[in-house]
Amino acid sequence: MPYPLSPRWRRRLPVPVALAAATAVVLLVGPASAVTPQATAPAEADPIAGQQASVVEVLLDGTAELDALVATGVDLDHHVERTETGVVAQAVITPSEADRLTAAGFTLGEVLHRPADARDRVAEREATIAEHRSENREFAATAADPTAPDTSDVKIIRADYYTSGTGQVLSVEAKWAQGQTATNTLTVERDSGPGTAIGSGGTQTISRFVDAGVYLYHRGAAAVTSRPQYVRITSPTGDVAVVKVREWLPTPRTDPEGPGYQKDFVTSYQTPTELYARIQQLAAEFPKLAEVVELPYKTNGYRRHAQAVLGAANASRVAVDSLAWGHEGGNDVSVELADPGAGNAALGVTVTGNAIRVNLATDGAGAVTSTAAQVAAALNANAGTLVRAYTYRGSPGDGVVASAPRTQLTDDLSAPASVSRDPHPVYAIRIGKHRDGSKLGVLAYAQEHAREWVPPLVTIETAERLLRNYDHDGRTKQLLNDLDIWIAPSINPDGGHYSFYDFNSQRKNMTNHCPTTGAADFLGRDSWGVDNNRNYTEYSLFDGYSGASSSCTSGTYAGPSELSEPENRNLDWLASRPNIKFSMNLHSSGNYFMWSPGAYALPDRTSAPRPSLADESFFWGASSRILTAIKQHRNMAVTPARTGPISDVLYSAAGNSGDMLWYKYGIYAWNFEVGTSFQPEWDEAHAEAMEFSNGLVELMRVARDFESDKKRPTSTMNVAPSSSPGMVNVTFDVSEPASVFYTLDGAKPTYDSTLYGSAGIREGGETLTVPAGTEVHWFSVDAAGNVEKNYRPDGKGNNYRKGKAVLPRR
Ligand SMILES: [Zn+2]
Repeated sequence: MPYPLSPRWRRRLPVPVALAAATAVVLLVGPASAVTPQATAPAEADPIAGQQASVVEVLLDGTAELDALVATGVDLDHHVERTETGVVAQAVITPSEADRLTAAGFTLGEVLHRPADARDRVAEREATIAEHRSENREFAATAADPTAPDTSDVKIIRADYYTSGTGQVLSVEAKWAQGQTATNTLTVERDSGPGTAIGSGGTQTISRFVDAGVYLYHRGAAAVTSRPQYVRITSPTGDVAVVKVREWLPTPRTDPEGPGYQKDFVTSYQTPTELYARIQQLAAEFPKLAEVVELPYKTNGYRRHAQAVLGAANASRVAVDSLAWGHEGGNDVSVELADPGAGNAALGVTVTGNAIRVNLATDGAGAVTSTAAQVAAALNANAGTLVRAYTYRGSPGDGVVASAPRTQLTDDLSAPASVSRDPHPVYAIRIGKHRDGSKLGVLAYAQEHAREWVPPLVTIETAERLLRNYDHDGRTKQLLNDLDIWIAPSINPDGGHYSFYDFNSQRKNMTNHCPTTGAADFLGRDSWGVDNNRNYTEYSLFDGYSGASSSCTSGTYAGPSELSEPENRNLDWLASRPNIKFSMNLHSSGNYFMWSPGAYALPDRTSAPRPSLADESFFWGASSRILTAIKQHRNMAVTPARTGPISDVLYSAAGNSGDMLWYKYGIYAWNFEVGTSFQPEWDEAHAEAMEFSNGLVELMRVARDFESDKKRPTSTMNVAPSSSPGMVNVTFDVSEPASVFYTLDGAKPTYDSTLYGSAGIREGGETLTVPAGTEVHWFSVDAAGNVEKNYRPDGKGNNYRKGKAVLPRR
């Protein structure tokens, strides 16, 4: 499995040595009083005392001029971008240095980051740290025994207050050490706001969440009438946990949609044929910004053989299938089982054009004696160029058949002729100013499951918002200029058409993998198909994982083998575009928002590998942005309990696409479960399309911010008392989602050092219990590859973080 962070680190690491050495941290350039203790980077950045540096673009003709710039010794940020007309470097320079560079013939561009910006960031950071400290003090004051906080057998993982619709909700999750064996619920006491007594806001109970026999945590949500500040749980053994309540999805200060932002383009449900026509129209209207790409694999087609099942009792039933597809002549074939009305008749078959007549055998009294097996054999022997016949679902077929009037075989497909019966191309619209693979790729895809009619609308609405706002909305322009966006509105068009015209509950594709001894006959037709979201390659049924079926009629049939289906091979092809780093798999319903792992193996619920703590926190951080955007439409809050890894909040789904994208391709892969039902009334469907399109556009913004992230993470080491004599408890905090690598033996930390991990499912960082006084060396690195203090973790750098694991003075 490719570790998702590694490729980016590797990509970033070969920065030319001269540039890397010259790099300084923008955050560090500020008034001396605001510089924090760890901010003691090499001081050569600003040789002129009293002058403050800004980050300024230097516009260069090419590499030779870049070399000349490096030779001046100027402090270059590691951002060097090659454009169509040359090279843009970012320099950290003072006004007098700017004058010197201009005099030397260099052309300066935009000022990207001024000292005032840095001061704002530092002030913001200081405020956050101060708030954090006071929270810890408040927590310590309310906790039962502040000298040994690691002894309680109950731990509150999350306490989230939010509004949804017109209501107020408090959602709490907690882990209790006895949760696997004892079935107790836990009681949560609330205060009623700042300064009020715990309990004054009432209580609520939370229940065990057990999946596959394994206790995960307690969880529950309740309506509240005011926002509590603290909650407390006293476990059945008398241990206590207290935490501060956080606000889930608070209203953002600024609206990401600027004035004049256009939206609301979908006016009805759309079939796959209509969805594809719509993206063709959009690409034709915006040829500079979009194109339609036909994916490499055609589906098996909205088509079936013509069939009939003659007879009632299983042993005397005969199943007949045309050899030709229904629309290619199969529907013209008919079969009649004729009673000759005379004694001692022999079994015979006559074929006249497409009309097949079986003359049944009789005994001396004129009673029919032909069995189902005999009739099937006679049909195969005498009409084998038109049909194949078989006994019903593996029956020996020893029952005597009943005569049957002329029965037309049928594929029983009801779509109008405008819906193609041929193997169907699958299309994606590719949106972006530069669609050459040079920009960060984002993939959104819908309708793996045929009956889910709203998710395709979300993708179409999103495509249209991106294209129609490009000209007049600056933020949309940035997205299309900087990203390479792939949107596939219907991965499974055959099933989609079938769902619209024939069987609205269709989930899978239409391919019949059932044997004639199984459900291959006419009566099994609504149960055929492969679950396209179980046919992928990672942690699949074929690898022994749970949540998919080997039965061809199951709703979660995984198919005969991984990637057996063209729909799945198409998605694998899309995901293998090397620039794609973010994806959204759109499903319905339930208002879930999820990521990997999405599967575990039984009997021990062995999970697919969990993301690192840094990736997990990146998933959570981006999720809160995306879910906040969704909430802005009509205050519908996707709940904390429905946010997280698929297998933690929903169920195991072996071989799902999100897991393939994450584990095989290192793509940050999310999954929407949109709305409340598969095919809601239009007003509701429309509202769901609007709100989740908000979220999908926000994913584009998350992706762009990720790509332009040049900010280095900072970290702090926290030391707390331990219940073990002579030991202390160490945890790390980071300023943004970032990995921490550390050593405890005095060695320099590198990427081979120990990676700071998670304490457990849905918990924060682990607690390291170490001897008091241990020398801790560490550094942090964010998902974009920015390393704290520009430390070079290759064994040569020295400016990693250092600290002694001793208790802070209070
Ligand atoms: Zn689905």
